[in-house]
Amino acid sequence: MSYKLKVGELKEKYLTDEEIWRTLTVVLSNKSVKSSTYKYALIKSLIENLYQVNDQFELTYDQLAYSFTKIYWNLIVHHQLDKQNRGKNARVVTIIKEAQTANAIPSEYSFDKIDATLQINLVKKVKTTMKENVFGALYGDTKGRFYAFDHKREYFQINPAVHSFMLNYQRLIVNLTNYHMAAMIEELNEVPSINYLLGKVESIARRTSLRPFEKVLMNHFEARCFYCNKTLSGEKRETHVDHFIPWSFVQSDHLWNLVLSCQKCNSSKSDKLPERPFLQEIISRNNELHTKIVEPNWMTNYKEKKIIMLYDYSIKNGYDVIWSP
Ligand SMILES: [Zn+2]
Repeated sequence: MSYKLKVGELKEKYLTDEEIWRTLTVVLSNKSVKSSTYKYALIKSLIENLYQVNDQFELTYDQLAYSFTKIYWNLIVHHQLDKQNRGKNARVVTIIKEAQTANAIPSEYSFDKIDATLQINLVKKVKTTMKENVFGALYGDTKGRFYAFDHKREYFQINPAVHSFMLNYQRLIVNLTNYHMAAMIEELNEVPSINYLLGKVESIARRTSLRPFEKVLMNHFEARCFYCNKTLSGEKRETHVDHFIPWSFVQSDHLWNLVLSCQKCNSSKSDKLPERPFLQEIISRNNELHTKIVEPNWMTNYKEKKIIMLYDYSIKNGYDVIWSP
């Protein structure tokens, strides 16, 4: 298990922005297994310290642990969001709560306001937890490509390519990290917190019914599953409307990205991309639609190029599990 590692070497030094995006997207999204908010907090700590690296792109564990402790203190004490883990309490929560209780610190106190000695003491304890549960875990999730670390020397070395990437896209990375972290905190804490809307943002544009699209497609094409060619009976629950490029990536419902499918294909395809030959098929289908649909708007702005681009971009964004019926 990677989180038990004491040393991690940099596996690949020369990464392109595209490769970094792909890894980062998988790490942040729910495509990667996560049991606690630790990795988000580590990425935030890293970003906070981007300008603190030495000539070898190194940071000390103390620098990172300071940011990490501060983040959790403010979440747990200040905002009372103390569920940061699935299952039993995250160790960092216990450490911080114990310190707060022992020193009778009111929840108004942000980390910056507490006594310097107490800060140092806390950072030291949190650092121990980071060694056990954090550095190795994110290292594993990033396949050893983002950073190297060494528990004995207590150093953390960012891949120079990742460092420059983080500088270039810092704002975007921060927003993405905050978003995913808030969504997870909201889920764990089951309270309408300051972030309670964030989890809903993702689906806010989603239609409740694709029925109108189904009708149009049924009117113009044979009632067959786009993927397996099975005849669709037209009965309720038998015919499904499927987003060719997954909705979670396109975040919208366009006729040119919708196909009829059987229940079996629809549910097994789920959030995955169909294999590439289907791309050509949907392009032909759309060309046909283009001539058939008189209704304005429905095919506006559709271009063959666009759906090809979307297909390729979704792969770059972590949709790299390709489905076939
Ligand atoms: Zn099918």
